[in-house]
Amino acid sequence: MALQDEFHFIDQIKPKRVSRSGLIAGIGDDAALFRPTQEMEQIICMDTMVEGVHFTKKTMDPYQIGYKALAVNISDIAAMGGTPTYYLVSIAIPKDWNEQELLSIYEGMAMLADKYHMDLIGGDTVSIAGNLVVTVTVLGEVEKGKHLLRSHAQPGDIVFVSGTIGDSSAGLSLLLHNKKNYSFSESEKTLIQKHQYPIPRVEIGRLLSTFERVSLNDISDGLASETNEIAKASCVTLLIDEDKIPFSEAILKQHQDRALEFALYGGEDFELVGTIAASDWEILQKQAKKHGYILTKVGTVSEGGPAVFLKRDGELCKLEMKGYNHFTK
Ligand code: ADP
Ligand code: MG
Repeated sequence: MALQDEFHFIDQIKPKRVSRSGLIAGIGDDAALFRPTQEMEQIICMDTMVEGVHFTKKTMDPYQIGYKALAVNISDIAAMGGTPTYYLVSIAIPKDWNEQELLSIYEGMAMLADKYHMDLIGGDTVSIAGNLVVTVTVLGEVEKGKHLLRSHAQPGDIVFVSGTIGDSSAGLSLLLHNKKNYSFSESEKTLIQKHQYPIPRVEIGRLLSTFERVSLNDISDGLASETNEIAKASCVTLLIDEDKIPFSEAILKQHQDRALEFALYGGEDFELVGTIAASDWEILQKQAKKHGYILTKVGTVSEGGPAVFLKRDGELCKLEMKGYNHFTK
């Protein structure tokens, strides 16, 4: 492997301080040990990023790879309404990655971990013949009974999304066509930033967890896929208004013709999509506004089998899980 000394490497990535009072033993023993917070449900999730599949050295710096590998997992905790607490990292290292690059990956993660007061409590280090593989496990917690599931949608609900949708894939498209060192315009940079540094919406998830009943999903695979997951889990039909989908100024400037395609089928925005009772929508909107969170109503939930329809010019077309071709009638 590219590492001279695995133990020296682990020593360097070992956090210098502890953020959470429940931690009993982090890195350095056979396993990590922590005391869960009383009255909280524990959440756990894992996501893997593979070089050549989720990123290349041409689209992302090591620091950004680390940031994003942790961000996508924190986003899953946010989609449950929870707060992230601890994380573990398994890294499979090929020969062409040097120690400095590997340490940068950990710095990218530490930056985000600091923001949420999370502790790195363990992991695994192995060599691999092929490409770099980074697997992150994140633990989190949510007040008992306050978790937000995809199965919580009911007919009559409002469908909402956070932020703007499609920016990350528009940014990726720019990176793939121009390489990361190209001198991009300001609006191009905004889109690329959304691809390289997605912001997990933990604070919005926490606000949503204070409501009686919210269904929630994070947008990792595009709006078409994520809304279908809610429809399926809740056995309801979602109607999405095409002209309500929020786009950034940057995407409209750079890619107006492809903005909808990026939003529906692009993914990696790591914004939230969910549903809430119509009677709670106004209260939610007011509270979101107070905190400066952007939430947009994009549709409604109705009775019927699990399906999603896109309303365009008064007509409904079925939104399939994947594939832009299904959409062009
Ligand atoms: P063991 O042989 O008991 O599995 P290791 O030598 O693999 O122990 O790991 C020693 C300590 O370092 C453990 O606490 C483990 O969780 C941690 N660790 C190992 N690799 C990593 C890594 N890539 N990132 C974070 N922690 C790691
Ligand atoms: Mg051991």
